[in-house]
Amino acid sequence: MNILTNHLPTAELQRIDAAHHMHPFTGGDALAKKGARIITRADGMMLTDSDGREVLDMMAGLWCVNIGYGRHELAEAAYRQMKELPYYNTFFQTSHVPVIALSQKLAELAPEPFNQTFFAASGSEANDTNIRLVRQYWAAVGKPDKKIIISRKNAYHGSTMGGGSLGGMAHMHSQGGLPIENIVHIDQPHWWAEGGDMTPEEFGLLRARQLEEEIDRLGEGNVAAFIAEPIQGAGGVVIPPETYWPEIQRICDAREILLIADEVILGFGRTGRWFGSEYYGIRPDIMTIAKGLSSGYAPIGGSMVSDRVAKVIAESDFNHGYTYSGHPVSCAVALENLRIMEEESLLDHVNQIAAPALAKAIATFEDHPLIGEARSLGMLGALQFTPDKSRRAPFKAPKGTIGEIARDACFANDIVMRHVGDRMIVSPPLIMTEADTEVFVDRATRALDQTYDKAK
Ligand code: PLP
Repeated sequence: MNILTNHLPTAELQRIDAAHHMHPFTGGDALAKKGARIITRADGMMLTDSDGREVLDMMAGLWCVNIGYGRHELAEAAYRQMKELPYYNTFFQTSHVPVIALSQKLAELAPEPFNQTFFAASGSEANDTNIRLVRQYWAAVGKPDKKIIISRKNAYHGSTMGGGSLGGMAHMHSQGGLPIENIVHIDQPHWWAEGGDMTPEEFGLLRARQLEEEIDRLGEGNVAAFIAEPIQGAGGVVIPPETYWPEIQRICDAREILLIADEVILGFGRTGRWFGSEYYGIRPDIMTIAKGLSSGYAPIGGSMVSDRVAKVIAESDFNHGYTYSGHPVSCAVALENLRIMEEESLLDHVNQIAAPALAKAIATFEDHPLIGEARSLGMLGALQFTPDKSRRAPFKAPKGTIGEIARDACFANDIVMRHVGDRMIVSPPLIMTEADTEVFVDRATRALDQTYDKAK
């Protein structure tokens, strides 16, 4: 029997799913107890589940469906490419038209000096590539001791051994021997949770200067790079104080280390610019891309490499690559995605309509009795729960419980928001309209009111 065409009842799909499908990041017996919510189709910002309920997707899948669901042009691009050339590799001096076209397009969209992309199938793989790129770079310029990569606690850079090590997620590091050698973590610029009595500006400088202290502690001759998301996403949409990035850039300029900006979430419009680095005026040496590159319609990621680094790598022997580096179907889908973004002026839509509407919607929660901070930037937002706003107090242990209650209330009210500890975060498709934000406010208000009632 073909499950794809046979529309089995939800309970039966859940039973088969729990029996045979190992889910990513899904704890304990949750599946056996509750079963997964099964999504069957989607259009625009709305998901439809196997019971026919319509759910507002305020997370764009996993921060990726930037152009929204249901764009058949991308399906047609994939179909055309599969018929023409479904697969060929880019190893050993071979290439194909979709990867050539996409590389050129990325060079056109990215700021100078980014003209080269090394492709992968995901953000995690691309960050693994970055570990190898920066070490290869320093070895090739005669500084092989420069191996250590500095990252930040509570960062997310993927879930491979390399990506998980670069990330600073304590719950991931507690499993499977992470982090791997020569990756260290400094503190994050999360003022609300960790800023104490300091102003955000003072705190931003303090946390940025930890990078300089860490370089001194480790010895500049041993440090290869600093990696960071311009805005931490999975760590809870941590929007850094305004003083943070200029100080980090100053340190990177003064010290001999490379800067890797992980643009997996911010890339392709989430801040209203093509890249988050442009929003913050950061000048990285490498940018990690994935997600919004294809709006999640096909798996693709990559490392965009600045001319200085690309030149050295090209002249060295870089023994690295993936079967799906520059997969022709993913490249064709990404190209079509970028064509739509440009033709429909999606960045203008973000700047003029979607981001202001989201900001207004998020601000309506500022006075909610559960919320200590309601912030957004571009198409990212966070609602911080607190029992005492004036002290920026966290909820007492077990941390995350209130978030879980809120997540369940969101499920019950047909809206997807994500909880990270005691924060609810959103990262909706960039196509969001004012009417969508009204649906968001309505459903989120009901979910938060129910959460408040339960938490009392
Ligand atoms: N980097 C960042 C900033 C991410 O948010 C993610 C995924 O959420 C990744 C890397 C990993 O990407 P992937 O899940 O495609 O491997």
